[in-house]
Amino acid sequence: MAEAQGQAPPDEEVLVAPERGSVEELLDASAGDPLDPMRHSAAHVMAEAVMDLFPGTKLGIGPAIADGFYYDFELPRALTPDDLAAIETRMASSVAADHAFVRHELPPEEGRAFFVERGQPYKVEILDDLGVAARAAGLPMPPVTTYEHGPFIDLCRGPHVASTGRIGPFRLLSVAGAYWRGDEKRPMLQRIYGTVWATREELEHYLWRREEAKKRDHRRLGVKLDLYSFHDVSPGSAFWHPKGQRLWRTLEGAMRELQERRGYQEISTPIVVHEKLWRQSGHWDLYRDSMFLIESEGQTFSLKPMNCPESTLIYRSRVRSYRDLPLRLSEYGRLHRNERSGTLSGLTRVRHFIQDDAHVYVRPDQLGDEIEAMLGEVAESYSWFGLQPRFSFATKPDKALGDPALWEKAEGLIREALDRSGAKYAVKPRDGTFYAPKIDIYIDDGLGREWQTATIQVDLVMLPERFDLEYIDEEGRPQRPVAIHRAIYGSLERFIGILTEHFAGAFPFWCAPVQAVVVPIADRHLDAAAELAGVLRARGLRVEVDDSSNRMQNKIRLAQEQKVPYMLVLGDREVEARTASPRTRGGEQQAAVDWEELAERLAEESAARRPD
Ligand SMILES: [Zn+2]
Ligand SMILES: [Zn+2]
Repeated sequence: MAEAQGQAPPDEEVLVAPERGSVEELLDASAGDPLDPMRHSAAHVMAEAVMDLFPGTKLGIGPAIADGFYYDFELPRALTPDDLAAIETRMASSVAADHAFVRHELPPEEGRAFFVERGQPYKVEILDDLGVAARAAGLPMPPVTTYEHGPFIDLCRGPHVASTGRIGPFRLLSVAGAYWRGDEKRPMLQRIYGTVWATREELEHYLWRREEAKKRDHRRLGVKLDLYSFHDVSPGSAFWHPKGQRLWRTLEGAMRELQERRGYQEISTPIVVHEKLWRQSGHWDLYRDSMFLIESEGQTFSLKPMNCPESTLIYRSRVRSYRDLPLRLSEYGRLHRNERSGTLSGLTRVRHFIQDDAHVYVRPDQLGDEIEAMLGEVAESYSWFGLQPRFSFATKPDKALGDPALWEKAEGLIREALDRSGAKYAVKPRDGTFYAPKIDIYIDDGLGREWQTATIQVDLVMLPERFDLEYIDEEGRPQRPVAIHRAIYGSLERFIGILTEHFAGAFPFWCAPVQAVVVPIADRHLDAAAELAGVLRARGLRVEVDDSSNRMQNKIRLAQEQKVPYMLVLGDREVEARTASPRTRGGEQQAAVDWEELAERLAEESAARRPD
């Protein structure tokens, strides 16, 4: 059950449903950052400015979020970018006035009357829900706390900075529609996003990062580089164009080569699977809502959301001896999960995806070595991209299946393997899955954003117990194996989305969809261009010829825009001497080199799988 979906990056433009719904969450203004009190204070100051510019505004909520804050407003009209500038100006004068934040406590009835009188129905609704929750828990209604600064007072739990003067450099970023409490049956409010930092430099860096992230957005780059596209006939499922498919197959091929070297055996199992298998694995109870169901001949099937249980049918197809283990079964299975269409985003949040999945069956005494070897697989494959994996070790959750002694043993072995590998890791107590402690692997991309990619899960229960797996030990007695679920890229779709943004489309030479473009200067060089491409393709290189009628400078510019690593220009001199002068996408002009020698050199470079 390798979980490789993770969170999509925030996308304000399409965000219509805030993640906050419950009354507790509505009042919780923090995002877990030391800057939260300042960021939330900036939200209050923004609300003050909006109330001032638009009298009668009704206030929703205004929490701190990662990198900033927002506030939801019901306003008489739609906001424009000019409004944001005006709101910023008012905010700046409130900051300059250095108003103190003052906390007040009111008896419940008085507090409610205060917000009724001020015409703030959303605040009254929050208070009423708090009353309902308190009564349900048999508790008295708590006092109403407010924070006041200058002319503005808000229902709030805090904390705040001491005064508005403590608010650092800020910028309002965008406006988006947001349903009250994330409910599309409730009013749509206008949400203003802002960012605020302790220093001017941090603000500038954040704004740069944000612009850069827009430029690198894989949804945009995917179209520009002709890699993939999305169509409404299949939401959350990429259509792979020839170049994207080439990138895909190169990544898959590299992993397949590593796996074969490590003794994995590849399997392939059906996509449409009877419900009884999911009942046995436990997914029917836990995952049914995320499964696509299909009726046929009065029976219920589903598109598989994961590969795990099917691999046990292959395990059980014959008697396994202790000598057969570890049995490493890898599978590039097509998986479908019925994510809500509103949550889908590019390649990072999809309905259809393929994992570089594997289920490895081991004897308990083999577990430590196998995990250590898998950590080596992660280190090797991430080095192809120059990515530094970070590890976190998630231990037994409160609700766990299986024998506690076995859990303890498995956790000890994982810890030992992590220590032996020399990898630095963080421990996340009680964060394992209900059937397995796990190692999650994270990377930081070129913009410092964290992504979870790979996972290694040590399964003591779901596959071994529920599918009654056995092997025969040295004494001829049946024993229970341990199953390890592992994925290194995770979802290939997601991994390619991350790589596209990390490299801003300039993939390393070894996996670039087009590794070189041959650029003939004139039509009389076309035959030689085709011949050179043939020499390079014979060495397994991915090469195109630009045989268009464009002028040479245009051909080079186009290849650079497509982030092709090498351009090979052919003119009279080169054709005569059977040489080519490689020019890199970075603009470096290399010395002319003989065709065969060039093919040799590029093939070696490609096989080395190095980041550029
Ligand atoms: Zn699995
Ligand atoms: Zn507050």
